[in-house]
Amino acid sequence: MPVIPYRGRFAPSPTGLLHAGSLMTAVGSYLEARCRGGEWWVRMEDLDPPREMPGAADDILRTLEAFGFEWDGEVVYQSQRHHLYQAALQQLIDSGHVYPCSCSRKEITSIARRGVDGHVYPGWCRDGCRKQREHHAWRLRVDDVPVSFADRLQGVYQQNLAHDIGDFVLLRADGFWAYQLAVVVDDAEQGMSDIVRGADLLVSTPRQIHIQRCLGLPTPGYCHLPLLVNAAGEKLSKQTLAPAIDRAAVAKELRLALCRLGHIPPAECQSAKELWQWACANWSLAAVPAGPCQL
Ligand code: GLU
Repeated sequence: MPVIPYRGRFAPSPTGLLHAGSLMTAVGSYLEARCRGGEWWVRMEDLDPPREMPGAADDILRTLEAFGFEWDGEVVYQSQRHHLYQAALQQLIDSGHVYPCSCSRKEITSIARRGVDGHVYPGWCRDGCRKQREHHAWRLRVDDVPVSFADRLQGVYQQNLAHDIGDFVLLRADGFWAYQLAVVVDDAEQGMSDIVRGADLLVSTPRQIHIQRCLGLPTPGYCHLPLLVNAAGEKLSKQTLAPAIDRAAVAKELRLALCRLGHIPPAECQSAKELWQWACANWSLAAVPAGPCQL
């Protein structure tokens, strides 16, 4: 069997600045790629301008540089790749996997039951749009069968998309591409072999595997890293007011991220360079805890 070269990535959304949780994800995905002799790319997931913070994309890149991350190739911006998402959607239209949907969020949330990630769309437009509206979304049909995969850290994870999620949106009625489609198209187009990211996205992975199968794309390996949570158990994010990483305290922040990933550097490693050297020589996924880590 040919050995597929390792290629990984870090894919921040510029909705806020890099915080301690996203730094942990970047460190884990970087070390996993480098320790397996692989490439590590950065992809800016700037798909949803209204939710973005002006200047955040550049600030995230400056912070990664300050920490000494070295990425392969040029940074890829999703905002420049709409043609790829359009081509994928067209393929799914041609193959009958998607259908137009005119239901509003309000109609769905007032009636549909909740699944594992929001409301389960009851399929009202499956056999033709229920209402004539100026704009409609495109939804992908899902099947009433289990979709499972073996996560390298979290173990086997399974969903029945029909029961847990329902047919889901790939292009929103307001014209924005859904994360689920863009991430699958980009990971495949960029030849990603392994996806290492935060455990909040575990719930999205069966949807992404389903899209891959509908498009005839390979499924990469998956590894979902522990989340950093606050005292209330909430994921660190802009919504939970996570403070931005301090670029003036690189060694301290890097040490903390490594400790949270189960790697405790010896006291004599003081500088960021020494910490990276130690981490590259000692990184092992087996030492990383699967469960959430409290701030
Ligand atoms: N852009 C996503 C985020 O910032 C990550 C997407 C991914 O790694 O698949 O949460």
